[in-house]
Amino acid sequence: MTIEMAAIGVDLGATKIASALVSAHGDVLAARQTQTQSVEGSEAVLDRLAAEIEALIFEARCPVAGVGIGSPGVVDPVNGIVRGAVNLNWDEVHLVAGLQARLTGELPIFVQKDTNASALGELFFGAGQGCQDFVYLSIGSGLGGGVIANGQLVIGANGIAAELGHLSLDPEGPPCICGLRGCAELTVSGPGMVNLARQRLNSGARIGEICDPDELTPAGILEAAGRGDAAALSVLARAGSDLGAVMAACTAVLNPQRYVIGGGLGLAAFDYIVPAARRELERRVTPAGMRRLEIVPSLLPSSAVGAACLVWQSKGAEKCVEY
Ligand SMILES: [Zn+2]
Repeated sequence: MTIEMAAIGVDLGATKIASALVSAHGDVLAARQTQTQSVEGSEAVLDRLAAEIEALIFEARCPVAGVGIGSPGVVDPVNGIVRGAVNLNWDEVHLVAGLQARLTGELPIFVQKDTNASALGELFFGAGQGCQDFVYLSIGSGLGGGVIANGQLVIGANGIAAELGHLSLDPEGPPCICGLRGCAELTVSGPGMVNLARQRLNSGARIGEICDPDELTPAGILEAAGRGDAAALSVLARAGSDLGAVMAACTAVLNPQRYVIGGGLGLAAFDYIVPAARRELERRVTPAGMRRLEIVPSLLPSSAVGAACLVWQSKGAEKCVEY
């Protein structure tokens, strides 16, 4: 009789910590969520992470193979260090060492950029199954990406491969928090879409019933688009065409077979932004690059599942790719 094992996946976000106990088949056996409360400092966040992990170990009715963590910022997966996580207010945090010091058991702990972990999750159990070359794009409060090439996660020389939100599409454009101008995430994100809508309001248009810029939200824009509002549809089409420009850069380098669109807003806005993205792609890449190219929504049930896949990957449980 084989003993089933489980892995713990943790998605460390700016506002919440989502964690799950995940089987080797991708089933979520238990899930937890708590507030990150990063204002209390990194030591307090490490305490909370350790408590969430201990709680899942306690709940597990089978051996736990390890812990995988998806983190924002620039992640050094080899040394377990997170740097420059602006939304956590983390300059440099030794995440793996800090957790090992807090946990009672000796479990292997892996850390990876959050969107890289999600890309791995799609490869193992989501919309990337059976696909060796795909790009995962997450649209939410920002735009993030993860690349699977030849069945492997692409990390890059400094761990910032697929940092697509800060690919500048217009170096003369408006300034971005990263120091560049005209970054993709200034339009392809929740705040970006709100900003585009604000520009429409300022030039005299209305978004559905909304005429006060302070009342604009991504959900409000989507709702107006659903009722056929021309200004809302044009905002989403602009975000979509900018997404297409990002995809074109990826296509030129990687020739992926598939784009997997995730993130709360990416899924909610999928039907509005993908047609414009595809049109823009067709304007920018050769027909050979577009051949058999699919754009599909994410299928991962939880952001913590991708993080758990860092454990399964380390155990050599590489997903078999069927042709
Ligand atoms: Zn930027």
